[in-house]
Amino acid sequence: MILTSWCKASTAKFNIQKTEIIPIGTQEHRAKVIETGQTRDDSEEIPINIYIAKDGEPVRILGSWVGNKIDNENIWSAQLDKIDHTLESWERSNPTIEGRKLIIQMVVGGMTQYLAQVQGMPKGAEKKLEKRIRKFIWGEKTKSPINIDILYAPIKMGGRGLLDIKSRNEAIDLMWLKSYLKFNNDRPLWTLVADALMAINLPQSESSSNRETKQSVFLQSWKTLSGTKCPKTIRKLFLTAKKFAVWLEGLAFTPSITIAMPIWYHAKADPKIRCLTGSETSKCLIKNHKVMRVGEIEKLANSLQHPSNTPDPNCLCENCVETGDVNKCENPHNCYIQAEKLIGLLPPKWNLTMRYQSGGDIIVDNTNDPDHFKRKYFSGKYETDGTIADAFHAFTEGETMNNVPQKFNDNGNTEVIKVHIATKLITANDIKKLVAVIYYGRENPKNSMLKVSNPQRTGNRSWEP
Ligand SMILES: [Zn+2]
Ligand SMILES: [Zn+2]
Repeated sequence: MILTSWCKASTAKFNIQKTEIIPIGTQEHRAKVIETGQTRDDSEEIPINIYIAKDGEPVRILGSWVGNKIDNENIWSAQLDKIDHTLESWERSNPTIEGRKLIIQMVVGGMTQYLAQVQGMPKGAEKKLEKRIRKFIWGEKTKSPINIDILYAPIKMGGRGLLDIKSRNEAIDLMWLKSYLKFNNDRPLWTLVADALMAINLPQSESSSNRETKQSVFLQSWKTLSGTKCPKTIRKLFLTAKKFAVWLEGLAFTPSITIAMPIWYHAKADPKIRCLTGSETSKCLIKNHKVMRVGEIEKLANSLQHPSNTPDPNCLCENCVETGDVNKCENPHNCYIQAEKLIGLLPPKWNLTMRYQSGGDIIVDNTNDPDHFKRKYFSGKYETDGTIADAFHAFTEGETMNNVPQKFNDNGNTEVIKVHIATKLITANDIKKLVAVIYYGRENPKNSMLKVSNPQRTGNRSWEP
């Protein structure tokens, strides 16, 4: 059998007695494998002592349950029974409320975290666990003396830091999304599978040509199916991104981020870029020049600046000769022009040619003053640095500006404006408020105050002059 020879070759040992097989393929094929014990008509029969999982029968692999048409609720109900049982035995020791909190963390938190991570927790199980936590925290009492939100709130904010299973699960979803959005060379393997699936599952409005240019819908403007036809795990990524408003946003970015963005269907570019992607010249850029990213298209467009370059398809400048030889391009000059056109469709914030000057921007105030040590200096650098992953932010809101904010000294205006910033947490009528004040000077109309009435929620802020 293949497995036996594989074990010999790789020196790995499989417990063949415990091996189970999950057939992969269409429903008819799976049924046939179960019936005949063969994966192909001419293949060896699977030994009778090896179990072949039927549809709906989960198989345990590395602590998660996989299989065809398995029911997640069923998998969780076994885990919930175990939790119930453990909580019951703790109940006998009559714990204090603080003890109960720790037991919940250990039992409910500990016994669900891994499975929720690898399997996802269905809403039904989440609701049941929430109920169980509430019941356990109050022991025999039937009426809860304190609002549950206060128990969930962090200790720093006057709460008790009780395990909030729904928020914990949301955090797990966000961590999955974060790991998908890494966009560097060591992305986890599953993200590449997800990308490939997104690029295949296209709505009718989307052209299926140029497969290689479709990298990710999180960076580009092409559309993939996101409804019920889309695999559950991928849909979860979209739902999580939408729920927490995770988008590519920032005041400005350093070139390490802007050059790494895909040029084709660039999410922030003028929509015209979609038509340009399909043109003949773009085909040369994709197939021959192998251009995918903004940095590469930028480099190509820069060839136009070469002093001996001429608009002739047979131009003999260094770049054209190399482009012709290496990339088998018939008309390099034409391709440079196209590259320049594509770059022209990027808004200033994402366009390397129109922006970014670096500079030391630590703002230091040297005035001699006795409160000196109370001050905190901050960096005036507002560009996001790092990789594309650093350009994704959660809880984004409002309109996106695609221009680069001007610094005062960009206009030769080097006047230093001193402001005082103070923040304080106050409690009024049992409501906690965070107040921030920017003070320019006595009766200065620019003086302003920011109040955040409930620091747990976003979207509840306003600047008041
Ligand atoms: Zn040339
Ligand atoms: Zn070309």
